[in-house]
Amino acid sequence: MRRCAAVLLILVLAVPPSLFAADEPTLAGYSPRSSQAEREWESKFRVIPDPANLREDMRRLSARPHHVGSAYDKDNADWILARFKEWGLDAHIETFDVLFPTPKVRMLEMIEPTKYTAKLEEPGVAIDPTSNQKAEQLPTYNAYSIDGDVTAPLVFVNYGLPEDYEQLDRLGISVKGAIVIAKYYHSWRGVKPKVAAEHGAIGCLIYSEPKDDGYTRDVVFPQGPMRNPDGVQRGSVMDFASASPGDPLTPGVGATADAKRLSLKEAKSLSKIPVLPISYGDAQPLLAALKGQMAPDEWRGTLPIPYHVGPGPAKVHLKLEFNWDIKPVNDVIAKIPGSIAPDEWIIRGNHHDAWVNGAEDPVSGTSPLLEEARALGLLLKQGWKPRRTIIYAAWDGEEPMLLGSTEWVETHAEELRQRAAVYINTDGNDRGLFQMGGSHSLEQFINGVARDIDDPETKMTVWQRSHLSQIANAKPEDRKELRQRADLRIEALGSGTDFTGFLDHLGIASLNLGYGGEDEQGIYHSIYDDFYWYTHFSDTEFVYGRALSQTIGTSVMRLADAEVLPYDFVDFADTVEKYTKDLEKLLADKQEEIRERNQELDEGVFKATFDPRRPTVAPAHEEVPPHLNFAPLENAEEMLTHSATRYQKALSQKQAGLSEIQIETLRALNAKLIDSERKLTNEDGLPRRPWYKHLLYAPGVYSGYGVKTVPGVREGIEQKRYSEAEQEILRVSKALEQESALIDSAAQLLEQAGH
Ligand SMILES: [Zn+2]
Repeated sequence: MRRCAAVLLILVLAVPPSLFAADEPTLAGYSPRSSQAEREWESKFRVIPDPANLREDMRRLSARPHHVGSAYDKDNADWILARFKEWGLDAHIETFDVLFPTPKVRMLEMIEPTKYTAKLEEPGVAIDPTSNQKAEQLPTYNAYSIDGDVTAPLVFVNYGLPEDYEQLDRLGISVKGAIVIAKYYHSWRGVKPKVAAEHGAIGCLIYSEPKDDGYTRDVVFPQGPMRNPDGVQRGSVMDFASASPGDPLTPGVGATADAKRLSLKEAKSLSKIPVLPISYGDAQPLLAALKGQMAPDEWRGTLPIPYHVGPGPAKVHLKLEFNWDIKPVNDVIAKIPGSIAPDEWIIRGNHHDAWVNGAEDPVSGTSPLLEEARALGLLLKQGWKPRRTIIYAAWDGEEPMLLGSTEWVETHAEELRQRAAVYINTDGNDRGLFQMGGSHSLEQFINGVARDIDDPETKMTVWQRSHLSQIANAKPEDRKELRQRADLRIEALGSGTDFTGFLDHLGIASLNLGYGGEDEQGIYHSIYDDFYWYTHFSDTEFVYGRALSQTIGTSVMRLADAEVLPYDFVDFADTVEKYTKDLEKLLADKQEEIRERNQELDEGVFKATFDPRRPTVAPAHEEVPPHLNFAPLENAEEMLTHSATRYQKALSQKQAGLSEIQIETLRALNAKLIDSERKLTNEDGLPRRPWYKHLLYAPGVYSGYGVKTVPGVREGIEQKRYSEAEQEILRVSKALEQESALIDSAAQLLEQAGH
């Protein structure tokens, strides 16, 4: 109901046509005159990014392996610094010292019923020159796995998620004392050893199943884009979601040279059991040697073997030892000081480190960042003066787990809390649709930017293309909203890339953006993610790289130049209303599911379906979850909608006169707006994970990168801690009430301005 009212309001409050510059609407937060000037500068900006430069920057940055601590990682940092300076920006490198383990011993063998020694090796291919840089490549491994030497029967656990272990319980299979083998994907990889350890496993293997990113989806590399039989996905298994990302030895504080460090034994975010990633070439003989029950239908992949669960008779020996070294990470930071509001910061970042050569991850995002910086440098020389301070950051150490960005955020926490208005992140880029994730107070803003960017393939705007493709793929019941709502909904942010410290720890409104979705890829975190792969199988003409530069550069400028920061709370309130309904439905569904299962147990359904040759264990009778009181959340959310509408109206009515409002008033107003995301945090943090302070967005403890919205309440319900969920409803409601009060006070400032 309220949603339709909000849409109407937007139409009614639109600026009268006489104020339009050409036929373009006045930008939110701008007076008509400054909006016109801004649009002119933005148009000048958008013609600058050049695909030829993007290609050359990628070739240079991905020419050699450049993981944390490597020679070329430092070389790249110095090269990026020199570029920033060459373009006239005030730039420096900020270095932190972090724990970064690399493999010393990696051994995996099957000792029963037959012998097999895993290769654990990705061979170079002749046609792809950088794949042969053996001496500089990090071996295949999972960073922050503990050392270990274990021998045990093997059990296949599907994707290794909590619900997979419920299935195993039903099959009467325990992983206690076993080594598990799980498939990659469907959760962040570190969740797999975490859940395995919680169920008593003593070791964990993770393999890349061809059904997910191998030959089932397309031809394998180098003839095609997919993972070949020897390709392995490296990656971090640091338990960042339950503890914190960044350096495990300095949680919560910057890993500066003189920081107090935990001992390795005290570090909370290492895996609990040894874990190793393997290729499907190495996984196949192990899986083929499993017997016992057949794996459930949905668990089976497309290797030419019957998928059994085990345990055994396959017995494997896994031995891992790491060099637990402290290594430097080098963040490259460039600053453009603001001319009117230097203490309000717009920050933009993408990482520069990779697991190996990393042309796609991260360089396809780093190169567009560099083109933006070059273009902004040119505009500065032509007389453009951004109102706010702009900071460009090329982060190091993202791959091991957001090391460079987290340490920078922790080091500068105090300043950032006061000054940072928005953080914009990218992490790589591909060909396809514009993908928007972020804080919902920026939903309207980023929709506006997307309406001004042309899609390289269809020539419609990237917003139109996303809108129509969402209609094409929508469920019938969602199409009406898609056609009526002014803005496309943006995804809430989980984690897995460098916005985490900004958003989750400090409560800085953030966006995570990129293009993609049109090409299959199976080279993630392997030696084959390189220039050859990218220039044959992804954005080969670098036109989506240019679109990314245009999109992010426009966003940065528009945020930096607005008289009033373009946050909007109507879409935000609408999202909170949706989340409240989602939570109510989550609980109702759970109650219904358990009620139904209990009834089936009483009716004898499980006795009737029991097959003595394939014995299963009936689930236990469970207590139906109690009703929770969502009223405080509903009340807070209504208050929020009211305040959001009031603010939108006040801003719209004052738009024509924004340039006459006193600078002191604007400063006070913008300070309130900057504070609006902070109000959604709580200093005590989420239950059992105090580093995570945002009450609306967090990575899931059992999903990792996947977001949990209103995490305290949602995870309380999911993990059956109902009284905790009820407490969290109160905490979230209180924060929303304070948010409402803040928005009201911002509206009041505007209403009174100029009187
Ligand atoms: Zn990345």
